[in-house]
Amino acid sequence: MRVAIAGGGLAGLACAKYLVDAGHTPIVYESRDVLGGLVAAWKDADGDWYETGLHVFFGAYPNMLQLFDELGIRDRLQWKEHTLIFNQPDKPGVLSRFDVPDIPAPFNVITAIIRNNDMLTWEQKLRFALGLLPAIVRGQAYVERMDQYSLLEWLRLQGVDEKVNTDIFIAASKALTFINPEDVSATVPLTALNRFLQERYGSKIAFLDGSPTERLCQPLVDYIVAGGGAVHTRKPLKQILLNSDGTVQGFLLRGLDGAVDEVVRADAYVSAMPVDVIKALMPDPWKQLDFFQKMEGLEGVPVINLHLWFDRKMTDVDQLLFSRSELLSVYADMSNTCREYAHPDRSMLELVLAPAKDWIDQSEEAIIAATMKELERLFPHHLTGENPAKLLKYHVVKTPRSVYTAAPGRQACRPDQATPIANFFLAGSYTMQRYLGSMEGAVLSGKLTAQAIVNSPLADTPVSRDRQPVAVGSQM
Ligand SMILES: Cc1cc2nc3c(=O)[nH]c(=O)nc-3n(C[C@H](O)[C@H](O)[C@H](O)COP(=O)(O)OP(=O)(O)OC[C@H]3O[C@@H](n4cnc5c(N)ncnc54)[C@H](O)[C@@H]3O)c2cc1C
Repeated sequence: MRVAIAGGGLAGLACAKYLVDAGHTPIVYESRDVLGGLVAAWKDADGDWYETGLHVFFGAYPNMLQLFDELGIRDRLQWKEHTLIFNQPDKPGVLSRFDVPDIPAPFNVITAIIRNNDMLTWEQKLRFALGLLPAIVRGQAYVERMDQYSLLEWLRLQGVDEKVNTDIFIAASKALTFINPEDVSATVPLTALNRFLQERYGSKIAFLDGSPTERLCQPLVDYIVAGGGAVHTRKPLKQILLNSDGTVQGFLLRGLDGAVDEVVRADAYVSAMPVDVIKALMPDPWKQLDFFQKMEGLEGVPVINLHLWFDRKMTDVDQLLFSRSELLSVYADMSNTCREYAHPDRSMLELVLAPAKDWIDQSEEAIIAATMKELERLFPHHLTGENPAKLLKYHVVKTPRSVYTAAPGRQACRPDQATPIANFFLAGSYTMQRYLGSMEGAVLSGKLTAQAIVNSPLADTPVSRDRQPVAVGSQM
């Protein structure tokens, strides 16, 4: 079966990969000249990489890890010490660690929390643990029902101390969703916490050893092409053409640089584009359907990714850090964490600015000036005093609409991968799967889309029989 996929992010590429495995022929059409979508990266004139987002992988990413194995690139993940590290706002430059011992879950995470005495008192820890109990005991079904509350509302309902919110959950919420606990659905951090509490290495973090475009997307492309599929860049979907019965007749691709538009036809069609784009391209007759109407409740959240090169080493920490500052979310010194970005004498700090709604339209100069002000509190020894570190250069990557905004009530808006249109499917981390707006979610969604296509009546043609089933890893 020939399958046309619009969108060459992780979801579109994973979908194509699993269709190849099942013996089908996917053709990916990506609008930009670079693959990867939210993991896309570029090289500047000096040969330095800069990225759409600072990305880390977790031990609790079964589908992503399986994909690395299947592509034969598992050694590209650089696993770090099992620890979560937070800045302390009231003690500039001082870090607080949650070191996770190598013992079975959930005792490893519980021990890490008990051992950390910088951030929470015993009473706060106890009330936090009691508040979490229903999520642990009643499992994911309970966690899903909590989508009606914001995280802050849920913490208050559970009687958890406000300090747990300010010390832990603002940082977690900003890191996971780029919004604050008063705006984020309780389901999101509870889902992540449940994973971390159930798997021994669930919260262990890995960095890729280079840019995601080169180190992850390219092996996917090579695999797809070797399996008979194709991946094209600079091929934006302009319109979804319909048959009289409302099914897809073809994808109309916009011709760039004076080229004429072209129509591509296939047996099945997939949108692996961001939710805001498919909403804009939705054919009018489909808008009447409840399935597609619900998607109106989803939209991408703004976020900004920053890269700052300094004339010296700012830190020797080889791990992700939670800044716990007003403007910034997580950051890392990529000259320590990533083999290809390594430098013995200079730091490249990669930082996520979130929530970004008040900053997305500001100038790069204003964003960098405000960031440098915050960095003075994170690195007081290097950025204040007589001989402060010099900022050599920077890159600012703004994404006005990134992953779906994980506000309360959004779970019900997330569509299935199979749609009411017989030959049309959706992939993307916003579609319904357990891993929320993450790389794991994108890969799992692509796999589920491939499975939905393979299991659909479309695949039940003479040419499509005797195909391999698509093996879907753990959904949880
Ligand atoms: C700053 C930042 C940090 C992040 N950090 C992490 C992290 O640490 N860990 C983690 O797991 N996840 C992280 N994420 C989330 C993760 O990157 C996303 O969930 C995932 O990459 C989404 O993949 P996707 O394929 O669903 O969507 P996208 O990556 O958005 O892919 C959609 C693709 O469709 C293309 N497209 C758009 N319009 C058209 C058109 N008309 N025709 C054809 N193609 C089109 C786009 O160019 C894009 O390539 C982060 C995201 C950001 C922005």
